[in-house]
Amino acid sequence: MFKCSCGGFFHVIRVEEYPKHLSGLEKLNYMRKCTVKCDKCGTIKENQPYD
Ligand SMILES: [Zn+2]
Repeated sequence: MFKCSCGGFFHVIRVEEYPKHLSGLEKLNYMRKCTVKCDKCGTIKENQPYD
């Protein structure tokens, strides 16, 4: 869980999809990115690490 500088918490609103060509093992090693949004001030941060 990420914490915002305003004191609110960032919630994940979108997670990157795995590229379709990846095998099961490659998916395990693939670091997806996500977009998070603060529940208090509404700040959105993209490209945050998810996995
Ligand atoms: Zn905030």
